[in-house]
Amino acid sequence: MSFPTRAFAAQSSSSPLEPWSLERRALGADDVLIDILFCGVCHSDLHQARDEWGGSLFPMVPGHEIVGKVLSVGTGVTKWKVGDTVGVGVFVDSCRACPQCLAGEEQYCDEGMTATYNAQARDGGGLTFGGYSTQIVIQEDYIVSIPEALPLDAAAPLLCAGITTYSPLRYFGVKPGDSVAVVGLGGLGHMGVKFAKAFGAHVTVLSHSPSKREAALAMGADDFIATGDEAVFADNRKKFDLILDTVSADHDLNSYLGLLKINGTMVLVGLPNPSPVSAFSLVGGRRSLAGSMIGGIKETQEMLDFCAEKGIVCDIEVIPMDYINTAYERMLKSDVRYRFVIDLATLKG
Ligand code: NAP
Ligand code: ZN
Repeated sequence: MSFPTRAFAAQSSSSPLEPWSLERRALGADDVLIDILFCGVCHSDLHQARDEWGGSLFPMVPGHEIVGKVLSVGTGVTKWKVGDTVGVGVFVDSCRACPQCLAGEEQYCDEGMTATYNAQARDGGGLTFGGYSTQIVIQEDYIVSIPEALPLDAAAPLLCAGITTYSPLRYFGVKPGDSVAVVGLGGLGHMGVKFAKAFGAHVTVLSHSPSKREAALAMGADDFIATGDEAVFADNRKKFDLILDTVSADHDLNSYLGLLKINGTMVLVGLPNPSPVSAFSLVGGRRSLAGSMIGGIKETQEMLDFCAEKGIVCDIEVIPMDYINTAYERMLKSDVRYRFVIDLATLKG
């Protein structure tokens, strides 16, 4: 039997998030029931709740940076037991048969990954609902283990902001001595700084918020460039091997491409509707413009274990559930240091 679960939902793209009761599916043989403790607030939550990418499905319960405890397991579950501390990220299912799924890169599934929310479940069970809720039912293969060394609240954003920055830095082979720029010091950006630093790079933050300079240096950046002054784009030409662009709003990619060395790569992870790219920005320096989306289950576990080993966590501001609409407004003003995390105890009452 499905069961009612407390949540916060957007009923349309123009309505604020409000209390709502959703139905979770009954526990199947290979399902795990998770009591949600913390859920990070990603800018993708806001983009989708306000239908900025188009095609949003309502009612929507956002949230894909979920940490919780296993409450019960289905009869066929082998990987998890009651009491385990677990995480759920951006997807909850995929086809399991295409080359990407078989390679552990389910996020690039040929049939499309099933997102944790704002998606139709593969089994025809209706819409998926995310972590702005008290409990969630997840098939056992789409869950990761949260290492004991990590604080649960500050670990939650690793499930999206963490893996989304770790994966491209690994894939593009960032190594000691490389010059890496991170554009935008928000939830993703601040994790990008920590990972690039941990991989031995010389890290520069490019930010349109001059007030973030001290924090950027304190979290390990070697350099900070405020992008408000156009002159910085001429002054820093051909400086970086790799640029990780995490910006959530429209901005001119061509200016940033000019900062790449010959053969350099700029990786987009931010998802605004970007301005057009001039061929000249790439051709003149045999540069590459790439994109990257989260990471697979295997790599997410690897990233979590790496964080536990190196003592890497997110810088967070813990908020009650009913602060979410204010949190969205602050996120739009780049006023988050550096990730909001919802304490779901505030929804349990
Ligand atoms: P966030 O915390 O709001 O950070 C975005 C940062 O972008 C801001 O802190 C700000 O940094 C910069 N920024 C914002 N408005 C700007 C403007 N008008 N001009 C220049 N810079 C601006 O957001 P997030 O959660 O890190 O997400 C960032 C983006 O990544 C979003 O578009 C999100 O949807 C996307 N995303 C993609 C993936 C993926 O798999 N590829 C996964 C998760 C999220 P400064 O103040 O330092 O300039
Ligand atoms: Zn996200």
